[in-house]
Amino acid sequence: MILDGHVDTAQRMLDGNDDIVRRLPDGHVDLPRMKAGGLSGAFFAIWVDETYGPGTAFRRAMALIDTVRAFTDTVSGAELATNAGEVRAAAGRGHVAVLMGVEGGHAIENSLEHLEAFYHRGVRYMTLTWNNGNDWAGASMDPARQGGLSDFGRGVVRRMNDLGMLVDVSHASDATVRDVLQLTTKPVLASHSCCRALASHPRNLTDDQLRAIARQGGLVGINFFPVFLDDDFCARYAELNRRLEPEFAAIRASHEQPFLIDCEIDRLRVEHLERMDVPGIDRLVDHFDHAVQVMGIDHVGLGSDFDGICVLPRPMTRRRCRSSPEPSRLAAMATATSGRSWGRTSSGCLVPLGDPFFRGSQAVADPALERVGVALDQEPGGTGRDQVMREHVQLRRVVDL
Ligand SMILES: [Zn+2]
Repeated sequence: MILDGHVDTAQRMLDGNDDIVRRLPDGHVDLPRMKAGGLSGAFFAIWVDETYGPGTAFRRAMALIDTVRAFTDTVSGAELATNAGEVRAAAGRGHVAVLMGVEGGHAIENSLEHLEAFYHRGVRYMTLTWNNGNDWAGASMDPARQGGLSDFGRGVVRRMNDLGMLVDVSHASDATVRDVLQLTTKPVLASHSCCRALASHPRNLTDDQLRAIARQGGLVGINFFPVFLDDDFCARYAELNRRLEPEFAAIRASHEQPFLIDCEIDRLRVEHLERMDVPGIDRLVDHFDHAVQVMGIDHVGLGSDFDGICVLPRPMTRRRCRSSPEPSRLAAMATATSGRSWGRTSSGCLVPLGDPFFRGSQAVADPALERVGVALDQEPGGTGRDQVMREHVQLRRVVDL
């Protein structure tokens, strides 16, 4: 089993109308490439850009969720999965498992009802922030909101623990990570983060954070973005962005939709990145190695950020929005890892690429299923079908708001 903890393919499906059933000439993820790369499944990020706010952020997330669900409802080779059993069942049928995680806590618009609506639609993790902090949690990339959890933020974490939704600390500020680790009663996830001991980017996790996440049974999916892997490349990438800013500003002024703006900006960026020296897959494997040394192999997974990043470690494709038929290239990663002591298990599965996410989602989701079972037992005359209908009605009420 190989699960990817974070791919940004959903907005391509919604905004770009991309049909990922067929092999696409651009982007990173589609069903043929998932199969060719050996991916059993992936968490599709329900990413809500910071430009969405009160009155629009929740609606945007629901539109992305509907898109992913319409895909799994109609495509025979892909199945929505909300727990480990469903992932296993999908894999057993030779299908790709599609899981969902919301990215950006501002998507709940400060409402626990909205959080619950996400859960009932099948979402099984939420990053408390994206690059932007919000009213209740600070973000690593938001200088204005670097603090930790507010009282409401603590309530969000408690509710996620109760529901069986993984609390994802990728993107969160150090203070938020600290507060979450003190408060949570369930294992914590960092779906797409690298190691700060190897690269000082604030998005990366310190060894103390990695150890604390491991101690509580959580896991970290290593991000493939070269900017997070290597300080020297990060500095050159920042310089490139500074140089291109006037052109980026012109693009922002000429489009309304964030997706189109991102595509245009990436297209321009990639033209320049083609001529730059980009860290190779060995540097990515260094981060896996380090995380495994600090956390232990059971706590390290894969969180590629495919389709959310404009450049990948060599020799994986660098392109996002231009034509490039390269597959997800997990096979290249297999080759790079095979020389390392933790590269393969006796069963021939590559680790740490798979199982941890599987165990992580099981550890959190199962108590929630038990809770639903208890609720059913306590309802006189209630049946499983009644329960499902009640949840559906409650959900519609929230969605229709
Ligand atoms: Zn992200």
